[in-house]
Amino acid sequence: MILTVTLNPAIDVRYEISDFNIDKIFRAKSFKTPGGKGLNVSRVLNLLGNSVVATGFLGGSNGTWIKNSLQNLNINSSFIESASETRNCIAILGQGSQTEILEPGAEISEFELKKFIDHYKNLLLENEIICISGSLPKGISGETYKLLCELGKNKKVILDTSGTSLIEALQGNPFLIKPNQEELKAILQTPLDTQEKLIKGALTLRDKGAQNILLSLGKNGAIYIGDDIYKIDIPKIQVINPVGSGDSSVAGFAHGLKNNLPIEEILKYSMACGMSNAMSNETGFISLPVIEELMKKIIVKKIG
Ligand code: ATP
Repeated sequence: MILTVTLNPAIDVRYEISDFNIDKIFRAKSFKTPGGKGLNVSRVLNLLGNSVVATGFLGGSNGTWIKNSLQNLNINSSFIESASETRNCIAILGQGSQTEILEPGAEISEFELKKFIDHYKNLLLENEIICISGSLPKGISGETYKLLCELGKNKKVILDTSGTSLIEALQGNPFLIKPNQEELKAILQTPLDTQEKLIKGALTLRDKGAQNILLSLGKNGAIYIGDDIYKIDIPKIQVINPVGSGDSSVAGFAHGLKNNLPIEEILKYSMACGMSNAMSNETGFISLPVIEELMKKIIVKKIG
């Protein structure tokens, strides 16, 4: 099984209101999905046919709703219950606009964190690939991801987070990190306007401890820095909703790893999942026939 870690999950609530504007009243149906980056990864891994166990913190009636929804999707959940309620994140999709209201999330106590760490150690015994995604909840120190990476040092830990949580976690030597261009720029505080600068920038994260780096570049594909350096070129697609494409590309990478595919194929899966998600209205959704078609058109070139 593949383990996904979502320490700050949410119920994602989406409203589709074509003429959305402030200072007005709208009547709209809500669409709810289990959210938080790690749960997007779980959904895509599940659609790719993998057995997944999702862990992290869930609390209150929102937590129960997420647990039930995961069960309906055939995703195993193994969460620690938090005293505080799991958050809601609201997205209002207008015509060409997206307004988001993101609650900060439940505060986690030291006792709950300790309980989670013990639980995580047990889950590591049964899982070889660990996908850790998203922000840290309030009350949890930036060093937590470093600890989760260190505890998983004999496994393949894929970490997708940003800012100080990412920088601090690098010392835990994650197997893979997946920054996007903006996240890398924010860390390095320098313009990254050429391929050379992007590679040089990504290499500094390797110097700080990341074993491999998948630098995702949205419609421009990605650069992968592992034993060798690869540029992945992707075809143009009709984008509907790219939110969650990064999470989908993490899932595609983990799927390829799980199946012991050569790195070129792993990278193709990763890109195809990100693209298939972008071609769909739903966040964290992919289509297998679409992926099969896209894989034929993705070009992986060794450049270093
Ligand atoms: P998110 O935070 O929304 O999950 P991200 O910023 O982490 O996304 P991106 O670099 O935007 O990640 O996207 C990941 C992958 O998804 C890309 O490498 C690419 O394969 C695919 N993708 C994303 N956006 C597009 C797009 N507009 N056109 C084609 N492919 C895309």
